[in-house]
Amino acid sequence: MKSGLYIVATPIGNLGDISPRAVETLRQADVIACEDSRVTKKLFSLLGISLQKKFITLHDHNEEEQAQKIIDEVLAGHAVAQVSDAGSPLISDPGYKLIKQCREAGVFITTLPGCCALISALQLSGLPTNRFMFVGFIPNKDKARADLFKKYQSLDATLIFYETAPRLLKTLAAAQEIFGNREMSVAREISKVYEECLTAKAKDLIEHFKENPPKGEMVFMVSPPSAEEEKTDLDLDSLLQEKLKTQSLKTVVKELVDAYNLNKNEVYEKALRIKNGNKLS
Ligand code: SAM
Repeated sequence: MKSGLYIVATPIGNLGDISPRAVETLRQADVIACEDSRVTKKLFSLLGISLQKKFITLHDHNEEEQAQKIIDEVLAGHAVAQVSDAGSPLISDPGYKLIKQCREAGVFITTLPGCCALISALQLSGLPTNRFMFVGFIPNKDKARADLFKKYQSLDATLIFYETAPRLLKTLAAAQEIFGNREMSVAREISKVYEECLTAKAKDLIEHFKENPPKGEMVFMVSPPSAEEEKTDLDLDSLLQEKLKTQSLKTVVKELVDAYNLNKNEVYEKALRIKNGNKLS
């Protein structure tokens, strides 16, 4: 097997979802770069792959240092397979610094595509797929969660987040407040026995999950703003006119830029024009 770094996707639930090429690569690799060697060794046992290999663990806090060890292995002529605990490495998982360092070192890198929770969830949701934004994990603190939602509120794309069961109801409540009546979707336990994907308004999802406490791994999605919502968002002139009556130009610009993720210079110019207009009248 050619020396280099092989990025290998592993199943997110159903063992049968790993590709024959991925299994062969893991079988032949000399070194395995993984998150938790216990999780990866369990997968190898299920796949009948020998554990007589070198395992190097990679975490966000030690990635740069471990990356050098991996590069040294490749330079010594070895094939290194990189996996995460489940799904596609690097996606809300460690690895991008390793790839960056490998590229800088000029070593051979290839990827073996496969399971990725966000893509499967989007496929199941029935929400628009033409444009989407993967935002990663939702923060646990109320303010940070609300700020994150506001940041992407007016983006014309389906929003995709990774979420955990204990936090889902809080997330739905915040989403109802910020995204209002939009369609939202929760895809859980994809490719497992209790796979479920529900797409509805926040109110109905909250009702459902209060009656059926959420369990397992899940992806939360929000549909893009509707045409009417976009129109409301973009009724910037009225918003500015109203707010400038009581607040300073600087405060108003900052507030609207943050709330609607707008271009600062454009809002500033508009606000200035309105303010000057007000002075003249
Ligand atoms: N790199 C992985 C990927 O993209 O496939 C994701 C790793 S991330 C640390 C784990 C999160 O992915 C979970 O908290 C959950 O949000 C999502 N996830 C993983 N497996 C899932 C599944 N079977 N069904 C639904 N969501 C899943």
